[in-house]
Amino acid sequence: MTRRFFALLALGATSAASAAARPPERPKLVLAIVIDQFRYDYLTRFRGDYTGGLDRLLRQGAVFTNARYEHVPTVTACGHAILMTGAMPSLSGIVGNDWIDRETGKKVTSVSDDSVRLLGAEGKGASPRRLLASTLGDEMKMAGKGKPRVIGISLKDRAAILPAGHLADGAYWFDSHSGAFVSSTFYFPDLPQWVKEFNRGRPAGQYLGAEWKPLAPSPDYPAFAKTLAGAAGPEFYTSLDASPFGNELVEAFAERAIEGERLGQRGPTDLLTVSFSSNDYVGHDVGPEAPEVRDMAIRADRLIGRLLDFVEAKVGPGNTLVVLTADHGVAPLPGIPEHAKMPGGRLSSKAILGAIEAALKKSFGDGPWVAGGSGEAPYLNRGLIRTRKLSEAEVERVAAQAVAAIPHVFRVYTREQLLNGAAIDDQITRRVVNGYCPSRSSDLVVLEEQYWIPLAHGASHGSAFGYDTHVPVIFMGPNIRAGRYDRNILPNDIAPTLATMLEVETPSGAAGRVLAEMLSGGSASH
Ligand SMILES: [Zn+2]
Repeated sequence: MTRRFFALLALGATSAASAAARPPERPKLVLAIVIDQFRYDYLTRFRGDYTGGLDRLLRQGAVFTNARYEHVPTVTACGHAILMTGAMPSLSGIVGNDWIDRETGKKVTSVSDDSVRLLGAEGKGASPRRLLASTLGDEMKMAGKGKPRVIGISLKDRAAILPAGHLADGAYWFDSHSGAFVSSTFYFPDLPQWVKEFNRGRPAGQYLGAEWKPLAPSPDYPAFAKTLAGAAGPEFYTSLDASPFGNELVEAFAERAIEGERLGQRGPTDLLTVSFSSNDYVGHDVGPEAPEVRDMAIRADRLIGRLLDFVEAKVGPGNTLVVLTADHGVAPLPGIPEHAKMPGGRLSSKAILGAIEAALKKSFGDGPWVAGGSGEAPYLNRGLIRTRKLSEAEVERVAAQAVAAIPHVFRVYTREQLLNGAAIDDQITRRVVNGYCPSRSSDLVVLEEQYWIPLAHGASHGSAFGYDTHVPVIFMGPNIRAGRYDRNILPNDIAPTLATMLEVETPSGAAGRVLAEMLSGGSASH
């Protein structure tokens, strides 16, 4: 008895000592960083050029080398919804950047909301109302009686709104008509003072006529120089989006938010999500092989370093839990000489819709049969199908047959097949099913062959293949065991892992697992 008693005493002393030596059990701030369109191999291809935030994350973080999305379409809204919900589009309801609303027949975006107004500029408001799942921030808010602060920031509305969630204190994005950071009446009747002050300084103005040249020239990449428009206006603000200066604005705004909201400086754990969109705008324009994309990655490294330094100065060292990922990757640019022997090319989205219209006209009479959507996600005219007393399944089947005959179409799924589990059972189908929400998704889901993209110009993403699905996932901070983790994981694992670390309820639709292999020290890992 005595021996056991002393053993227990000794155990108590040990854990008390290690508790004192450990960082606080819970971080003061969770900082979730997304780089929009940042394929996993951007970490390895440009590793030698990183000296800032990415370098630090790669050295001091838990680096997951095989994180892949398990849904299609791999687009911005879907990826950003997954970040903090862990939910597949089938459960989050965020099935694309936009889709056709079945009730009104009109195109809606993932965050469009006619019931709210824009704040900070003229225009239509936006909100997370179409998001059907809870986010980590929602769970933090519910567990903490509203005390934790939750803020989302990006150039894009969807990339600010969806990660922050329903109970967020605010989501802020850049309005490319006015050059101001805006929000909506969903969050508050008026913009906070710190936002108004930030906009009053007209921060975008400093980039009028700015020149963009590579930060670290390399013999492997041609030099380039681009000059932004010299007069304020939509043209200038849009060109700002597609330059490194868009990201700089977002970082500056994030710093102001940390000060203005005193994030991580009050007591409860707060959440800040920051999404850097400029990498995506540039990537679409020039493709992943271009020197501009390398420069955007290098500049993102420096900018994230600046943000991490700022956070550390405000919140204190070791008090912030950082997670970095991307919402999707990107396909190589078809047709460039280096890829001449690779498969790939461009497929016309319009040709797909045209083939459907022609086939249905031939079988069932005059249309219009296509109600909207894209070549990859066509919506059929259900009103006409009803009027003609046709079977939806039969009309879908005829449409699918026509699309399948188009060269370089890989697969066509019909709504009927997906709802009845009648499609071939493999990983690609599972990704389609995970991306399919019957009340919102299209009547057909069309997949192109590998390396084939449905755009006439520039680069694209959205497929179920490696280049679009493979993204970085890095955690860094208290209770994280740094190192390289090669096991396959999903970006959907981020939200349930954070929920476990913060001891709040798992977001409602989370499909991922807890990344227990990287947890150490705190009670959360036992
Ligand atoms: Zn994106």
